[in-house]
Amino acid sequence: MRPTYLEVNLPQLKQNLEAIRAHVHGAKVMPMVKANAYGHGIEGVAPFIEPYVDYFGVALVEEAIQLRQLGIKKPILVAGGTLIEQLPLFFEHDLILTASSLDLLTASEQLAESTRQRLKVHLKIDTGMERVGVHEYEAEEFIKASLACSHIEVEGIYTHLANSELAPVIARRVFVPTRQSQTLEGIATGEEQERSRNDDGVVSANLQLERFQEVLRFYEKNSLPMPMRHVCNSGGILNLPEAHLDMVRPGVLFYGVYPGRDIQTKIDVKPALTWKSRVAYSKVTLPGRSVSYGSLWQAEARTRIVTVPCGYADGYFRRMTNQARVIINGKSYPQVGRICMDQFMVNVGEDDVQVGDEVTLLGGGIAPEELADWAGTNEYEVMTNISARVPRIYIGAVQ
Ligand SMILES: *Cc1c(COP(=O)(O)O)cnc(C)c1O
Repeated sequence: MRPTYLEVNLPQLKQNLEAIRAHVHGAKVMPMVKANAYGHGIEGVAPFIEPYVDYFGVALVEEAIQLRQLGIKKPILVAGGTLIEQLPLFFEHDLILTASSLDLLTASEQLAESTRQRLKVHLKIDTGMERVGVHEYEAEEFIKASLACSHIEVEGIYTHLANSELAPVIARRVFVPTRQSQTLEGIATGEEQERSRNDDGVVSANLQLERFQEVLRFYEKNSLPMPMRHVCNSGGILNLPEAHLDMVRPGVLFYGVYPGRDIQTKIDVKPALTWKSRVAYSKVTLPGRSVSYGSLWQAEARTRIVTVPCGYADGYFRRMTNQARVIINGKSYPQVGRICMDQFMVNVGEDDVQVGDEVTLLGGGIAPEELADWAGTNEYEVMTNISARVPRIYIGAVQ
């Protein structure tokens, strides 16, 4: 096997799920396993955690089909935007559609009727993300249209938060409308547009929750059965307990990583990834010699430079050049010289590091936050960027 690999601690993922479940007090839990389970490897993660989840969430219908091909039987919600021509796949693989527009809702109802098949949908309300979903101020018409559908089952209704991971003071900021509150009717008026703006343009999670709850009032007012309601991503789970409602959708938190640095609520989750490699070459470099493409690092004295068989094609960001650190034989060393596609170099100084020694790139003392800082990105991108060329090894897979 390749000496560069990713170790995935499956029992830790189970523990993370249990910690989230305990924190949301009876709400259903739908871990998001999109993007190859945030880089952890869908084929190892999904079958292992299936017994402990209520739903699976993915972004793409293709990811949902992969889950079915892995033998997953639990309900799967496809959260991202879907094209009408992809609708037959939902029937074929028994998937839950996010009805994010009137067109998609109508098309799915028509297809369900003409093929005499059932389909479950969750209505998507856009309360401030401006990605997919029907705006909260047009939601009443959308809900009425859904009530007129008799061939699809509207099982759920949800929204997605744009800033739930921000400091609680922003996540929870209550927006005070300057004028009389608008109703749900019609498209945005000038007043409505004004209302959607905070002074700095940041839509708080609290404001989004208020808008969502106003949409839900339609069901209450008309004594209609309430579909399953869900709002919270990881930031919402931690910062906005009143938004847990009927189900939560943890992504990054399920993988043991916090969605932002300012979050004060901590629960018993830990990262489950360890990225390892082994020294493939070891040499002494003389003073004045520079290392790698572009000669971006030069030895000042005789020093030992070792080569690690892992590069930016594996997801070890080229932007981390001369920033990253690795652990070899329990000691931290700096990465030096341009990170190449398939290899990078490490300065181990006077130490006797030799070919075959184990190198830790992530985990075991190196937090995802550190890689994110070195690469100038977030922890999500660090994890999802680890490429398919890196084999995943699942620890604790046999129960
Ligand atoms: C990705 C995603 C989530 C999970 O987000 P995290 O910040 O990783 O918790 C939740 N809901 C939807 C709709 C998503 O696309």
